[in-house]
Amino acid sequence: MNPVKTGQEHVASLRDGRDVYINGERVADVTTHKAFRNSVSSAAMLYDFQSQPAQIDIMTFASPDTGRRVSRCWQLPGSYAELLERRRALEAWAELHYGFMGRSPDHVSSCISGMFMGVELFEAHDRKRAAAVRDYYAFARDNDLFLTYVIINPQADRSKSAHEQADPYLAAAVVDEDAEGITMRGAKMLATSSIMANEVFVTCIQPLAPGDEKQAVSFAIPMNAKGLRVLSRKSYEESAVSGFDNPLSSRFDENDAVLYFDDVKVPWERVFVNQSIDMTLKQFHATPAHVYQNYQCQIRLLVKMRFLAGLAHRIAEANGIVAFPQVRDTLGQIAAEVGLVDGLLHGMEAKGRQVGAYYVPDRHLLYSAQVLTQQLYPKVITTIRDLAGGGLIMLPSSVADFDNPLLADLIHKTQKSPVFAPEERVKFFKLAWDALGSEFASRHVQYEMFYAGASFVTRGHSYRTFDWATCKGMVDTLMASYPTPGPPASAHKSAAAG
Ligand SMILES: Cc1cc2nc3c(=O)[nH]c(=O)nc-3n(C[C@H](O)[C@H](O)[C@H](O)COP(=O)(O)OP(=O)(O)OC[C@H]3O[C@@H](n4cnc5c(N)ncnc54)[C@H](O)[C@@H]3O)c2cc1C
Repeated sequence: MNPVKTGQEHVASLRDGRDVYINGERVADVTTHKAFRNSVSSAAMLYDFQSQPAQIDIMTFASPDTGRRVSRCWQLPGSYAELLERRRALEAWAELHYGFMGRSPDHVSSCISGMFMGVELFEAHDRKRAAAVRDYYAFARDNDLFLTYVIINPQADRSKSAHEQADPYLAAAVVDEDAEGITMRGAKMLATSSIMANEVFVTCIQPLAPGDEKQAVSFAIPMNAKGLRVLSRKSYEESAVSGFDNPLSSRFDENDAVLYFDDVKVPWERVFVNQSIDMTLKQFHATPAHVYQNYQCQIRLLVKMRFLAGLAHRIAEANGIVAFPQVRDTLGQIAAEVGLVDGLLHGMEAKGRQVGAYYVPDRHLLYSAQVLTQQLYPKVITTIRDLAGGGLIMLPSSVADFDNPLLADLIHKTQKSPVFAPEERVKFFKLAWDALGSEFASRHVQYEMFYAGASFVTRGHSYRTFDWATCKGMVDTLMASYPTPGPPASAHKSAAAG
């Protein structure tokens, strides 16, 4: 084992016989398949970065059990200063993919770390399940695992609960239980990054109804567990024409997949919750898990927003519109929106609080950020597209056009810009389209709108965690500061008569 996990070590760990399907076929090796290999390389890049001598201190910390340096995404901050130290590492990782890998290894590690911070909750429920949480956190941390998760039941009929669906095993449910563990059958959505993760954390974050007990489980298994089938969506990486034509989709298509559990055996030492609706929900909300996993999302989003702001400014320069007052106005709006994300991130850190031994970002500011940013992202994308006009489309069909002298000459004559040479202009607008309008970009809009739940879900969290008492108290205090007319005399009379 290397002193710090490297990209090569991660790539080797993915050659484990996992059962991945795409385009009607089983994938022999995700690390070499044309639908996945570049995304796998991007994941490897993260580990290579943390293992560079100049980065080791910034990106990693020593495991308290083994002494091996592992990613700071497993660190459990005990103070504000440690939270910031951890954030700088997560931010540095996000900068490597410009915020376009939503489920990089620091996402689910943040969730599992948050669960571990609240392990007393599991202790009070079931000591064996608590031991499973403790052991799993240490195991995943010490092996610096890349985890993904599936915490949503597949869409079918949302007006019915999980066990009321036509097939009671549509949503993954316990089909059997014995001395060794539980057996799971059914599907979960949507395993982003599963093709390049080591293990998957499986549970349900949606409210479950009485009768859904068999879906109310929480466990982690390796991606090559027997019977675990990975049904990939279309690969944008595979459809990318070239790195020049699709600089983002060719590299950062983290993939999403439906997971099907074909009677998958989960040993007891990997089961964190067994058939408890109450604990399945509480593991997220009565521990720091949900806050930590979504705090990571805001760190990543800030990086992506900065990148998009850079793109917007460059578009304005490319088309010679940057000095127009209306364009500056638009850029000022985008800059303010980046500031909003930045401010909320710093605010949730500064307003965090000590929960036992750990420092936890402020819950309500986190949920405010989620509610506002899932509205903001599509708006920012539309604003930048508005700035760009037809330049996103006025482009050669592919990099191959440059190989034809006639076309290369015409491209040179027609792709004009005050700041870019013709070839650079094409390069730039191809990048802009990949970020703003390609199928990859469109998936990102859907991702930012839904990764934390539909908007009614995030607003519900905001409602639940807001300090209404202080706000209502202000209204009550003001009302108490001036007199209220007494009831009419007739009311006294009727009270006396009664
Ligand atoms: C790109 C992408 C990547 C994802 N990656 C992951 C992942 O890695 N792991 C994972 O577990 N999940 C992942 N998800 C799933 C994500 O968590 C869900 O999309 C999200 O929780 C919303 O659930 P849903 O898609 O089933 O939408 P639904 O819950 O079906 O909601 C869709 C819409 O239906 C309406 N609606 C539904 N129910 C109600 C209701 N009760 N009241 C009012 N209106 C309602 C609302 O208009 C809502 O916006 C991903 C999703 C996307 C798009």
